[in-house]
Amino acid sequence: IQRALRSLCIPLERLHIMKGHMMQDMCKGLSRQTHAQAKVRMLPTYICSTPNGTEQGNFLVVELCQSQIRTVLVTLYGDGNMSPQMVYKIFDMPEGIRQGEGEALFDFIAQCVSQFLAETTSSSQDRLPLGFVFPFTCQQTQLDKAVLLSWSKGFSCSGVVGKDVVQMLQSAINKQKVGGNGTGGRWLSPWRGWKSSQIAPGQLSHVNVVALMNDTVGTMMTCCTEGRPCEIAVVADKGSNCCFMAEAYLVEMAEETSGRMCVNTEWGCFGDDGTLNDVFTPYDKSVDEESSNPGEKRFEKLVGTLYLGEIVRHALIALTAEKAVFTGTDIAVLKEKGVFTIQHVLDIINNEDGTTDVKRILEVLGLQASEQDCSRVQQICRAVVGRAATLHAVGLAAILSYMCQTRDLETLMVNVGMDGELYKGYSRFEEILQSVSRLLSPECLPTLLPSKDGSGRGAAMVTAVALRLAAQRRVVDEVLGPLRLTQADLVKVQALMRQEMERGLGKQTNATASVRMLPTYVTHTPDGTERGDFLALDLGGTNFRVLVVRVTEEGISMASEIYVIPPAIMQGTGEALFDHIIDCIVDFQTKQNMLTQTLPLGFTFSFPCQQVGLDKALLLTWTKGFTASGCVGQDVVQLLRDAAKRKQHSGLQVVALLNDTVGTMMSCGYDDPKCEIGLIVGTGTNACYMEEMKNVGTVEGNEGRMCINMEWGAFGDNGCLDHIFTHFDKVVDDTTINPGKQRFEKLISGMYLGEIVRQILLVMTEKQLLFQGRASQKLQTRNIFQTKFLSTIELSNGLPLRQIRAIVNELELEASFEDCVLLREACQAVSLRAAQLCAAGLAAVVEKMRENRGLKQLSISVGVDGTLYKLHPCFSQNLQRTLKVLAPNCDVSFHLSEDGSGKGAALVAAVVARK
Ligand code: ADP
Ligand code: MG
Repeated sequence: IQRALRSLCIPLERLHIMKGHMMQDMCKGLSRQTHAQAKVRMLPTYICSTPNGTEQGNFLVVELCQSQIRTVLVTLYGDGNMSPQMVYKIFDMPEGIRQGEGEALFDFIAQCVSQFLAETTSSSQDRLPLGFVFPFTCQQTQLDKAVLLSWSKGFSCSGVVGKDVVQMLQSAINKQKVGGNGTGGRWLSPWRGWKSSQIAPGQLSHVNVVALMNDTVGTMMTCCTEGRPCEIAVVADKGSNCCFMAEAYLVEMAEETSGRMCVNTEWGCFGDDGTLNDVFTPYDKSVDEESSNPGEKRFEKLVGTLYLGEIVRHALIALTAEKAVFTGTDIAVLKEKGVFTIQHVLDIINNEDGTTDVKRILEVLGLQASEQDCSRVQQICRAVVGRAATLHAVGLAAILSYMCQTRDLETLMVNVGMDGELYKGYSRFEEILQSVSRLLSPECLPTLLPSKDGSGRGAAMVTAVALRLAAQRRVVDEVLGPLRLTQADLVKVQALMRQEMERGLGKQTNATASVRMLPTYVTHTPDGTERGDFLALDLGGTNFRVLVVRVTEEGISMASEIYVIPPAIMQGTGEALFDHIIDCIVDFQTKQNMLTQTLPLGFTFSFPCQQVGLDKALLLTWTKGFTASGCVGQDVVQLLRDAAKRKQHSGLQVVALLNDTVGTMMSCGYDDPKCEIGLIVGTGTNACYMEEMKNVGTVEGNEGRMCINMEWGAFGDNGCLDHIFTHFDKVVDDTTINPGKQRFEKLISGMYLGEIVRQILLVMTEKQLLFQGRASQKLQTRNIFQTKFLSTIELSNGLPLRQIRAIVNELELEASFEDCVLLREACQAVSLRAAQLCAAGLAAVVEKMRENRGLKQLSISVGVDGTLYKLHPCFSQNLQRTLKVLAPNCDVSFHLSEDGSGKGAALVAAVVARK
């Protein structure tokens, strides 16, 4: 007896190892590569949310049970699902239907539905959604699309395996006439106020099968409590199974990548690859050999109530042979498969005081038991059932730890919906499940809750949630739809950009073109022979910088200092601005101990200028928040020289003014001779590239090339992009200091993306899609939503919940999980569009260069700078992917520019100095 009991008791270390195996198997089942071989199948259910209490309406549920069909009508009132109204009816299935034709089975189900509805619903013809509880292994590809993989549990209807069972049920329903032909069901629930009325025949077509599910999912749905969703369900019944909410991106078998999805683990098959062999006792082996599917569902055969009585029976047979029990009595009855039911076992162990009842139970079975036999049988029963509870705890612990890890949590608090004969019938089940899972997963705090009618009410909830999500999806698509660009849209933008480029280059058309295509007087990219020491200034971004740059044979080295330009100066007078710049230069030269040196100076000035020579450039307009007076129309180099004179700084030798795009191209060109394009995606966006002189109508001469500063940020200022501007873009534009200007830039660059997202969030909140419809004061503050938030929120791997919540909390809001998912979707829509538009612009550039050079295929490099491009997790990828599609004949590689503005200014100055 002791040996038998020991073999049924699994040591803690072994449980830890088993939990590890279960977690490994779960990962295997979730991965696309290993899914086919995985024993724990981890089937996606396409159920992507749990109830939030707002669900309402009538829902029909049909459950296919072992020998019955159950139909349920549930009404939810949107009151937190506190008091759903339910009425149901059970129909016995005709003899033989389980082995007959599939069509007959579905016709019968449809008849049940028809009869049930005729007796329950009022004559309302509103669409009635139906949830179908179909507890067989299916390959589900949508909530309402599930191909039956194989029958089990005695079912073998022909013509169903390999077919979509949702479709089969819907077709059968569509054929039905209401009122049917009498299937003889019986009412199992008191009448609860449903109005019965006559419905004309042939009107069942308003019934739509919208969801198919397994019974575990329904269990999960009924156990949500105030404030905490239920995200795991364990059904400990004839078989055993579990489902839980997994991070959708980990469920590789489903396309869905955001949010969560319920996964049906099918953990009954755990151990089918031999992992459980060392815990099998000889009794388990006998049970398995006598089963209809030897070698399969090994875990289920240790824990399912269908098998527990059998395990006890085989243990008793073996122990009798060893003369440990029932010595000298007739035990022939034990040879009979199935005599020992789970009910016998439960009755025996739940009997805490004395063995009189045990004796009686055994007697009824036909076993003569002594006092000692009774207590020994009781011990064996306890060991078998206790082991089943312990193994459930192992499975639960694996799920809990997996959820905790994949959600990047320190502690996981979660509700677990519980159901099944073993859970309800074995008084110590819950206690064992709690304490053992606590030992195995101390970081998790599960709350076990009994499910009330999981397959009826729960299935209705699944259906309701599905409809709520579908309705929400429609509204989300309405909001985000205008931001989504098709390839045709992008091709059109590319063509328009090309057209504006031509107009900008043309002598006559230049003045009215929205893309100004400004000549830079830079005619060559570096050749690597540039040498010397230079001063450089970088104005036009977030920071103003002064640098000293040394270009030697060994490479480029530099020192720099960042200076703040206070908003008062940005928006004050030009004189004050340039005086401030000189002050900064003097400060820098003092710090660098080079006040007496006169070095050639390159000035990176990132605003649109009409350049007349390398060191003469008239400011056309301010952008990016600058408005200093008295500068537009003036020569910027002269303004700097004037300020130097005012400040009596005689050691300045300004030799070149250039745009930051040019600086970026030049600095990358120093390392890569193929780099003939410069691109900026930072505070603003702009690009430059090497154009053929003969195409530059605004500068004399036809030889060679010249770098053109496109000033593409203003693309669309003439109205040619109006068709892609959304409501959000217009609102953002209206609140800038330059409304109607830099329209392309306002769709792409860092200064604006956060604000566009904020506008979307406001609209989504107003439409009750986010934050329970309440926008905080903070969220209504301009520019509060920074573009760097997009980078955090869109982090490529998984959902960075903690970080998103931190951002949202900063805005004095609370985000539910679904809020986080939606927030990310909004950010993605905005950043994707930005990257795509940038790609469309770039496609126009590279295609023009390819044509210019008469090439079939152009191979070229782009030097890129800008924090948005560099730090956003998907921007560069999206840009490059889109560019490949729009300009398939160009091989474009991208190089990040390191300090392009500084280096570039020095390199341009170097070219001048050399001349
Ligand atoms: P500039 O273009 O002014 O020279 P940057 O290239 O550094 O300067 O770009 C600054 C812009 O980058 C800011 O407008 C800011 O919104 C944006 N930005 C800053 N950090 C991030 C980030 N982590 N992800 C995306 N954008 C960012
Ligand atoms: Mg910059």
